[in-house]
Amino acid sequence: MSTFQIDFGGGNSPQKILGIDLGTTNSLAAIMDLTGPRLMTGIIPSVVAVSEEGDVIAGEEALQMLVTHPERTVYSVKRLMGRGPADIQDELKLFPFRLTGLGDAPSDSMIHLQLGDKVMTPPEVSAHILRKLKWDAENVLGERLTQAVITVPAYFNDAQRQATKDAGRIAGLDVLRLVNEPTAAALAYGLDKRKEGVIAVYDLGGGTFDVSILRLHEGIFEVLATNGDTHLGGDDIDNLLMAVALEDIQSEWGENISSHSDAVQLLRRAVIQAKEKLSFVPAAVIDLNYNDKHYQREITLDVFNRLIQPIVERTLARCRACLADSKMSVAEINEVVMVGGSTRIPLVRAEVEKLFRSRPHTELNPDEVVALGAAVQAGILSGDVKDQLLLDVTPLSLGIETMGGLVSKLIHRNSTIPASAVDQFTTAVDGQRNVLIHVVQGERELVKDCRSLARFDLKELPPMPAGLARIEVRFLIDANGILNVTARDARTGQEQSLEVKPSYGLSDEQVEAMILESFDHAEADMNERQVREARVEADNNLAAVEKARRNEAFVALSPEERQAIEVAIQGLLAVYHSEDHHLIREKIDVLNEVTRNLAENMMNTAVRGALKGTKL
Ligand code: ADP
Ligand code: MG
Repeated sequence: MSTFQIDFGGGNSPQKILGIDLGTTNSLAAIMDLTGPRLMTGIIPSVVAVSEEGDVIAGEEALQMLVTHPERTVYSVKRLMGRGPADIQDELKLFPFRLTGLGDAPSDSMIHLQLGDKVMTPPEVSAHILRKLKWDAENVLGERLTQAVITVPAYFNDAQRQATKDAGRIAGLDVLRLVNEPTAAALAYGLDKRKEGVIAVYDLGGGTFDVSILRLHEGIFEVLATNGDTHLGGDDIDNLLMAVALEDIQSEWGENISSHSDAVQLLRRAVIQAKEKLSFVPAAVIDLNYNDKHYQREITLDVFNRLIQPIVERTLARCRACLADSKMSVAEINEVVMVGGSTRIPLVRAEVEKLFRSRPHTELNPDEVVALGAAVQAGILSGDVKDQLLLDVTPLSLGIETMGGLVSKLIHRNSTIPASAVDQFTTAVDGQRNVLIHVVQGERELVKDCRSLARFDLKELPPMPAGLARIEVRFLIDANGILNVTARDARTGQEQSLEVKPSYGLSDEQVEAMILESFDHAEADMNERQVREARVEADNNLAAVEKARRNEAFVALSPEERQAIEVAIQGLLAVYHSEDHHLIREKIDVLNEVTRNLAENMMNTAVRGALKGTKL
């Protein structure tokens, strides 16, 4: 009669590590099982909303609110991760993000989003998605999960990676590793088993496009090159169809509905439905009912293909650039892996096959591949998967500023990580005591065209003539793609180092505060869950007693015993709607206690009945 209990004790077995695909459009999580990677959650929309009561909702329910309460809802927040107001002007033209200034905040500070009466940073919004995944997975597994591997686009820079880690921390997850999405996909296909080969991973999701060339050598992955576009994906296809439909509607209804956000969201859903259908059937209808008006438009696959050809072509151009970067020819590519929901589109598959002259892998669901691969990586970290080492690649070059505002690159784009590099520098002025180390990221030659990551001083050098000091600067990128810089005066051995905190990141104090706040909520959420469980158990108990009352064993009880059972039932019903799960459980225990005799009698009757060969 007992209900399924969630055991947070952890038991003897080591804790599972969750593999999470935190996507722009959709997110999901998986773990490594004895038999292989297994999904732990459904695919949930990466959407977060704040209800009128002030509750934060993530996933499908939040997506519903996008139609009814767009002003309380945010999607595509991945685009804002680790970015400052200056970085996102392009996004603001395309996405209805409601930013809010926080008064005295400097211009390059964190972005803040207004959701109803709540204000949240992008990592906090992402944390709500992560927390939902964590909870869903905990419910399925019946175990507590506090460690995760999270995937990021290969193109994410340092700040974006840091922000992703922050989101994990806020959600109560210890992020053990960030893995590039294409790398995860290759792992999901178990391509490491083939030992040698060159693999192209083509990932066309909702908002981003990534292509990577991986080399497999003696069972070890190495990323040779990555390329992509952070503004290319299924959303662009949706926008093309939206434009067609909006124009139709304008001429049919004589009305421009693009200023009605509810109508636009409904139309967007209709468009996406039609698009997704077109991956399986030769024609689909865009269907909209709005204010008693009805719009219908059939789109054939031919029309669709012609419409999206330029988008597909843009991805192919990126593929060619990536091939060139990797110094591989098409003939040298052994396998092609398709990732991202948009690779279900037949034209995309056909064109990719044509370009690489090899049939791409599509056996796994393209929208699940990355999460499954993250689980494989989690398995590697937990020791469940052995003999595998992952090498990844840094997406942008890293260097320091030298005389005349020039960049001296230490680690070049597409270097495999972990990576380290050392270079020697000297002073420019006689008797110079301090040297400013300015770390920048980017491909351009001039500091002003690159992104400034950090500045720090190497202080109190012994005075020396210009050009005599020998300063060793060492860059180390760890397995998460996070940079550590050390500057050392080679003569005195004096050293200065820092983990480079990107300028748009959250401060440790901010992250701490957010974690604390999430703890507050976690407690409330946990209580709610326990209350719900207690009520389920109460239901089961009451139903069982109700059934027992019709049994002859009940009649055999003394009047006092029957009375005690009635009192216990009333007692449980009286606290049933209480928010105190202890109280509910206390009354369940009382009921169990007074029905023990009854249960025993029923058992005996049943046994006697069985012995007599009669059926009860
Ligand atoms: P992301 O990695 O950006 O979160 P996904 O890999 O989940 O995204 O892909 C989401 C995109 O895939 C959306 O644009 C969605 O409309 C598209 N998509 C999903 N299924 C199909 C399908 N059957 N045909 C075409 N596009 C699809
Ligand atoms: Mg994706």
